[in-house]
Amino acid sequence: MSDAKIRLYVEHPLGAGQSVPLSREHAHYLFGVMRQGVGAPVLLFNGQDGEWRAEVTEAGKRGGSLLCAHQTQPLHMPPDLWLLFAPIKKARTDFIVEKAAEMGARRIVPVQTDFTNAGRVHRDRLQAHAIEAAEQCGGTYVPEVTDMERLERVLAGLGDRQVMFCDEALVGGSPTLPNVAGPWAILIGPEGGFSEKERARLHGLDAAHAVPLGPRILRADTAAVAALTLWQQHLGDW
Ligand code: SAH
Repeated sequence: MSDAKIRLYVEHPLGAGQSVPLSREHAHYLFGVMRQGVGAPVLLFNGQDGEWRAEVTEAGKRGGSLLCAHQTQPLHMPPDLWLLFAPIKKARTDFIVEKAAEMGARRIVPVQTDFTNAGRVHRDRLQAHAIEAAEQCGGTYVPEVTDMERLERVLAGLGDRQVMFCDEALVGGSPTLPNVAGPWAILIGPEGGFSEKERARLHGLDAAHAVPLGPRILRADTAAVAALTLWQQHLGDW
């Protein structure tokens, strides 16, 4: 365990002897909110170079800098698992993104389905939630949150990726996932579920595996966490 309690995601190369400038927001957080100063230890990661122990070398109101000493964790990439989900209400969508980052999704894709009933998706805000989740869960990788895309387009661009299609029409069954290695995606529908047209399209895809999630209909946010758990336990890094 490192003595450093604060972890920050930075968009800057990390390595021994590397100096890292602090953004205004990070300086405010470290020196204003957390009352840290020169010499304070901080753990840094950037999604590429693992985690590094650094120390504050300059502390100012609007900025500052850190100096990297040694690596405390190598980069640990999550499995090649994407979460495709239909955005719902703001707070629940934020929850889904936060949980997907903690659970080890590599990419998070908001999808527009026939019954998706959410306004504009603020990609930057969702990406910030993914970063915060990675900071607090000890991850060294931050999943990319993409712009919202139509389900049809997302399905057309999956290549050889398998899809765990969480189909509420199968409620009551027990989930079984085929033992297929390689890239996967989990698909979760909106509050209104999938349309018959979407269901037919998905059942017609060789790479899509329709899976029930037990005997009760789950809310989309619960379904996302349940599906990620199942997949990670069966085919992932748990
Ligand atoms: N309104 C729909 C439920 C939608 S639940 C209905 O009453 O039928 C939101 C999403 O969560 C679904 O589209 C599905 O992807 C997932 N989900 C919820 N419960 C599920 C279950 N028991 N089995 C499979 N998927 C489920």
